Amino acid sequence: MGEIPPPTPDAPTVLLYSHYDVQPAGDEKLWKSPPFEPTPVEGGLRARGIADDKSNVIAHLGMLRAFKGRPPVGVKIVFEGQEEYGSPFDDYPPTDPERFACDAMVIADLGNLRPGTPTLTTGLRGASEVVVEVRTLEEPRHSGEFGAAPTPCSSCSRPSPPCTTCTETSPSKACAARSGPARATPRTSSAPSPASRTACR
Ligand SMILES: [Zn+2]
Repeated sequence: MGEIPPPTPDAPTVLLYSHYDVQPAGDEKLWKSPPFEPTPVEGGLRARGIADDKSNVIAHLGMLRAFKGRPPVGVKIVFEGQEEYGSPFDDYPPTDPERFACDAMVIADLGNLRPGTPTLTTGLRGASEVVVEVRTLEEPRHSGEFGAAPTPCSSCSRPSPPCTTCTETSPSKACAARSGPARATPRTSSAPSPASRTACR
């Protein structure tokens, strides 16, 4: 982190964020130039992480240089090194809110619409993590008579009760393979067929 205090007491403070860590380069034989040696290509630079997110670090520093290190606002700079790994920034700022307090935040972690076109993104989808709990019947039931009620086994990964077809304790994949033709055919008859009795759902 770095900080430039506001030039006047009423000047706002802007927090600038970027990260300098990158994803692994993968199989280097597939690269046309060394992944960690920035190489000029068609008017730009090619290297691992050059767009995500090292060039954006340079954009922040370029702004400070443009103002000769004396911007008209207070500046807080956060350059993170674990964004790609799984950022600790979900948890860390709330433990020290004053350190991150600001009036506006500029997150430089996105690309331009095309090379040479400065682009300001004003909204993102964000991300969420959810836990889905599925409750099923205790044992497989005929789909024609019991409709959409989920039966165990292929509907969930619950190990108990075991699948009646294959007796695997984690039977989803095994049952999908063994009962493929039966599962692929919609069952419209209300009369239990051999397939509906033995398929996982
Ligand atoms: Zn990024």
